[in-house]
Amino acid sequence: MQVPFYGHVKQYHNIKAEIDKNISEVLESGQYVMGPMLTRFEKELAVYCGTKYAIGVGNGTDAIWLVLMALGVGPGDECITTTNTFFATAEAIWIAGAKAVFVDCDPMTKCIDPNKLEKAINKKTKAIIPVHLYGQCADMRAIRAIADKHKLFVIEDNAQGIDGHGGDFKQGELSDAVTTSFIIQKNLGTFGDSGAIVTNNSEIDRQVRKMRNHGSEKRSCHSYGFNSRLDDIHAGILSAKLKYITKWTDQRRAWAAKYTEGLRSVKNFTLPYETPGYRHVYHLYVIETKKPEKRDVLLKFLNDNGIDAKCHYPIAIHQQEGFPWGKKARICGKQKHSERNAATCVSLPMFPELTSEEVNYTIAKLIEWDKAQK
Ligand SMILES: *Cc1c(COP(=O)(O)O)cnc(C)c1O
Repeated sequence: MQVPFYGHVKQYHNIKAEIDKNISEVLESGQYVMGPMLTRFEKELAVYCGTKYAIGVGNGTDAIWLVLMALGVGPGDECITTTNTFFATAEAIWIAGAKAVFVDCDPMTKCIDPNKLEKAINKKTKAIIPVHLYGQCADMRAIRAIADKHKLFVIEDNAQGIDGHGGDFKQGELSDAVTTSFIIQKNLGTFGDSGAIVTNNSEIDRQVRKMRNHGSEKRSCHSYGFNSRLDDIHAGILSAKLKYITKWTDQRRAWAAKYTEGLRSVKNFTLPYETPGYRHVYHLYVIETKKPEKRDVLLKFLNDNGIDAKCHYPIAIHQQEGFPWGKKARICGKQKHSERNAATCVSLPMFPELTSEEVNYTIAKLIEWDKAQK
């Protein structure tokens, strides 16, 4: 049996009529960039997220640095994040011209450890960028309290966590802005690059709108800006898909529950931790081998058995060969949990269109492997 890692084409086929209709509407409209479909999708996204504003941009990386620039964060400033995230989180800080400061993650949630934050804060610190890794919100209440005490901005990197929430907070409620990515492998994805920012801050909205479009608010008038727009074709595809996101998340959560139930007695790897009360959207279902030396063995076993498992992320940011030590980065404290996460993680197939057969087969193979270990 073959178990794929993604169900992109399956998902397209399931709602093909709606997607094709929106694409055709854009093609027939004659307006392909900054057109009415983008406006429509931005309105729908803001309503869906319960925020005042939503701004479509070129990708999830641009979304982060555009917010940083809108807030005036740049050269000479520091931004705090984690080393066990996708490289783009740090990249965005560097593109904005600021220094990235890294603290370790929490060993259970894998999100930034609020207890490690204060040690990393100095006079240059301007922002904290928690990542809702694998689809579960970071401890935003604790982060907000520290940000308030030190007067820092908070930007949620929500590329992996759309449709999630905390026990008693919504995304965007405790931050200045929430950024997301719509590249196909994300929970809400289009057939190309794009991203968005949602916020309740009118100044961020205004600045980002201007900067994404060559610094222009009015035709032919420009200030400092860039080109980072969400094309109308992608907006149309996303508008068609947005209606399904809640249902798709529920399905992801159901598969996660099935994995967790089926694997509850394994001894050689651990299962993902779900913070009580949080809506974990399972962008990824990540298990961790107890012994780091067993990770590649397990990965190969799954792959050899037709299960397309992967690793997110096998090399922590500070372990990357291209990591810019020196002026651009500062590591605050040991990155013990982040490094362990990198060395032991295995992502199981996780997408709404999985079948019971595929999930049962994956569980059976994992149990077989677990029993064969000494
Ligand atoms: C995917 C991702 C990004 C970047 O999104 P792009 O659209 O690829 O630029 C940023 N942060 C995290 C955590 C991501 O997973």
